[in-house]
Amino acid sequence: MKKVIYPGTFDPITNGHIDIIQRASRIFDDVTIAIAESPIKNPLFSSSERRTLVESTLRQLKINAKVTVFDSLLVEYVRQQKASVIIRGLRAVSDFEFEFQMALMNRKLDENIETVFLMPRDTYSYLSSSIIKQIARLGGGVKAFVPAHVETALRTKFFPKLPTKARVLK
Ligand code: ADP
Repeated sequence: MKKVIYPGTFDPITNGHIDIIQRASRIFDDVTIAIAESPIKNPLFSSSERRTLVESTLRQLKINAKVTVFDSLLVEYVRQQKASVIIRGLRAVSDFEFEFQMALMNRKLDENIETVFLMPRDTYSYLSSSIIKQIARLGGGVKAFVPAHVETALRTKFFPKLPTKARVLK
């Protein structure tokens, strides 16, 4: 049984992440989404909020995967979880250089851990959590790019004074 870890900040989870999770769970028996605390990235959502958003997404879409939060060196975490494969998403050539460097560095740190790249549907290749946050911060609708409960969470974060009903965009 191949256990794989899909690490990331997931601040917040988008349809692009979901596409990768679905692809990974079709290939591997045991998929764990590992949410990095990433304090250096100054996330909008706390790690427990990000975890809740991912868990609700998995429940709604009936995807069989686990969710954890970690705050250590990724290869160490992967070893600790008794996994040997890291999943990363590759959106465009712009992702390549950074991901390539990370994959080779992780291999240097542990020869037994392999990084596998999955490509999302082309329509998600321009999607990132940061662009979603930029749109939502300015009051734009992001319904086409994230699950409804994530859009509501974004509105609650950016516009806490809005009445609850108005946080759900039509
Ligand atoms: P990180 O801080 O580790 O980059 P992210 O949440 O931004 O965390 O991304 C986690 C992983 O998901 C990365 O491999 C990234 O390339 C991938 N990813 C992010 N958005 C998309 C998307 N729209 N389509 C496919 N993969 C994506």
